[in-house]
Amino acid sequence: MIEKSINYPFAQILADWPEARLREAIDRAGPGDVQRALRREQLFPEDLAALLSPAAVPFLEDMAQAAHRLTRQHFGRTIGLYAPIYLSNICYSDCLYCGYALHSGSLGDRRTLTPAEIRAECAILAGHGFQNILLLTGEAPKVAPVSYLAQAVAIAREYFASVAVEIYALDEAGYRALVDRGLEGVTLYMETYHRETYAAVHKRGRKRHYDYRLEAMARAGRAGVRRLSIGALLGLYHWWADGFWMGLHARQLQKECWQSAVSISFPRLRHVPERYRVQHLPSDRELVQLMLALRLFLPEVGFNLSTRESAGLRDHLIPLGVTMMSAGSSTRPGGYAHLDDDAALEQFEIEDGRSPEEVVAAIRRAGYDPVWKDFDAAFIE
Ligand code: SF4
Repeated sequence: MIEKSINYPFAQILADWPEARLREAIDRAGPGDVQRALRREQLFPEDLAALLSPAAVPFLEDMAQAAHRLTRQHFGRTIGLYAPIYLSNICYSDCLYCGYALHSGSLGDRRTLTPAEIRAECAILAGHGFQNILLLTGEAPKVAPVSYLAQAVAIAREYFASVAVEIYALDEAGYRALVDRGLEGVTLYMETYHRETYAAVHKRGRKRHYDYRLEAMARAGRAGVRRLSIGALLGLYHWWADGFWMGLHARQLQKECWQSAVSISFPRLRHVPERYRVQHLPSDRELVQLMLALRLFLPEVGFNLSTRESAGLRDHLIPLGVTMMSAGSSTRPGGYAHLDDDAALEQFEIEDGRSPEEVVAAIRRAGYDPVWKDFDAAFIE
């Protein structure tokens, strides 16, 4: 049963920053606004708009230096490592851009891992040294109900110090049931904050409920989830708009769920089913501008970078504010234990196919320390 979201404070904040107001702020921004934003200790939303504007492009080097300094100050020289485990690729939603979607034309077999298969995946990743794991499913509460997810979390906790999930949006009781079995983190991307685009690309299923998804992370925080990771799927809508709204969302979660660490992701939509055409894919330069602007706006928020980006770009982005990276990822259930070699089972193709050991070596070459266990715990120690 999906509850209707009413009076959620962030919905009001979003309503205060409609696209027309944001466009006006971006169009109006000049070099003086960018320089003022670069000097401020704490940035206002108008400053973020200036840093996302064309006026900020000549200042990218200054932004990079400031972002580098802030990241060092708040996170040291460490990059946390994590790996995804796909529990199931069954999905009853129909998101036009996704290979798992009900009508995407993906011909591969669908499967949901058994407890024994989950153990096999965990054992392999634990053998590589991972201590931080992300369990994923599609939107299929009938095949992967909360009871199944709770069992999967409990199994994963036998192998790993830190377990997070990227699953369908739950109610507060659902998140609490997972926390009771050892869950520490929830990753849930809004995909796009632009309501009309959201409605156009999410054709059916539970995920169509924009407001319910928008409030999910606040429910997770209230349920005791201590790591909250949000994201926008860059390419669905204008990067500067979704990046701006995601920045406001992260800041609101920091206030609302002050006991939880908030992080953000910047996945670019590269590989899509034939029926979908990506219209707003940001360039490398635009991705960098977005990351730098958000680092200055959110100095204490972690940045995650997945294997959706190429090895070369990931290595270049390390000093600009990245705090967590996935490595050696498989995006299909049973992918580590090679339960099925059918590539059609993948949710998306990865760009960085290096092994965990190769990613570790690249992080060290960049002058950073790879951290296998929970980033926050490592940082506190
Ligand atoms: S994005 Fe998620 S909910 Fe949508 S089709 Fe893919 S797996 Fe299902």
